[in-house]
Amino acid sequence: MMSLTRTSLEALDRIDPLSQIRALFELPDGVIYMDGNSLGARPKAVTARVTEVVEREWGVGLIRSWNDAAWMEMPGRVGAKIGRLIGAEADSVMAADSTSVNLFKMLGVALSLRPDRNVIVSERGNFPTDLYIAEGLAALLARGHELRLVEPGAVEHAIDERTAVVMLTHVNYHTGAMYDMAAITARAHAMGALALWDLAHSAGAVAVDLAGCAADLAVGCGYKFLNGGPGAPAFLYVAPRHQAAARYPLTGWLGHAAPFAFETSYRPAPGIHRAIVGTPPVISLAALEVGVDIALQAPMEAVRAKSLRQTAVFSELVAQECAGFDLHQITPADPAHRGSQISLAHPHAYEIMQALIARGLIGDFRAPDVLRFGVTPLYLRFADLWDGVQILKSVLQTQEWRDPRFAVRRRVT
Ligand SMILES: *Cc1c(COP(=O)(O)O)cnc(C)c1O
Repeated sequence: MMSLTRTSLEALDRIDPLSQIRALFELPDGVIYMDGNSLGARPKAVTARVTEVVEREWGVGLIRSWNDAAWMEMPGRVGAKIGRLIGAEADSVMAADSTSVNLFKMLGVALSLRPDRNVIVSERGNFPTDLYIAEGLAALLARGHELRLVEPGAVEHAIDERTAVVMLTHVNYHTGAMYDMAAITARAHAMGALALWDLAHSAGAVAVDLAGCAADLAVGCGYKFLNGGPGAPAFLYVAPRHQAAARYPLTGWLGHAAPFAFETSYRPAPGIHRAIVGTPPVISLAALEVGVDIALQAPMEAVRAKSLRQTAVFSELVAQECAGFDLHQITPADPAHRGSQISLAHPHAYEIMQALIARGLIGDFRAPDVLRFGVTPLYLRFADLWDGVQILKSVLQTQEWRDPRFAVRRRVT
């Protein structure tokens, strides 16, 4: 294979159909941002939109804005836009709460739809909050639910006639490995179980077809590839065929059939509307909507094609430029099983990542030993990959990561 050069990567940038979208984001000079899978960059238009909500809708409209500025419609409106990114049917997605809280709700719905089964199948290496939420709900229900945790390759085999739900993260946060959603969902259904997908590292990054896969339930994150801002509202999906029977473990007044009737007893709202618990976070939803609107401008085939090309180029560049430095890629090489990141294991991953960040290459560290580099096709350039890998090479060659200040553990890694 011909070796890659900065010139050859600049040429890829010139023919990149998404190259114009980068200008819609605020990206500081001197930074190569490869952590948009953890916190997406800020769309420039967020400032004006949030200012409008704060000054006009809130400041002038005051409480009238719940009606006049359609604040009440925001969870459904933003949810419907996210739905278009993940192949969801109309009226099946809501933007609300955090991913963790939505998981609690969706898992509760799943268990209510399969009351005579008591196994939740998941992956041992799933994102911790997903497992913790399942543990917590099982303990709360106190009906002997078993959380059956297996390795990725053993998931299909672990699904049996006691399985209520298979709860998986489509793209693994740690390794970047991606499941075959259609195949696992089909296997779950063949065993009479439901499939609940966490799309935190998928929505806006890889093609997802919830309806086409006949997925039952899903959740996902607003602040990663959707660029909704720190702590942005998350989203949830309930397949239309389950909505009427779905019973939620959180029954708040805004999921009631008639919130402003102030009835004493809960009656679920129709359809997906019962998924809402309390008052929507209007300012956060407004910021999220700006990010989602940008994602909708980019055809998903182009996003996925660029993402796969960028992860391949990054991987190849690391092999070409940083051979002999004990880096070991744990992300699958097979594009069919790769999300939008490259994870490299190294015994000193923490210190190396701190040194890279000090030099302007921002990725993150995931315990115990992974350097994680997210690829965000909406604003990452091919030439950035070259410059980033040169920084990585230099940090490894000079061993500047051995400076004791890079060993200091911070709260967020
Ligand atoms: C990022 C992420 C979350 C985040 O959950 P929060 O409730 O927003 O903190 C959950 N699950 C997965 C798989 C994630 O990657």
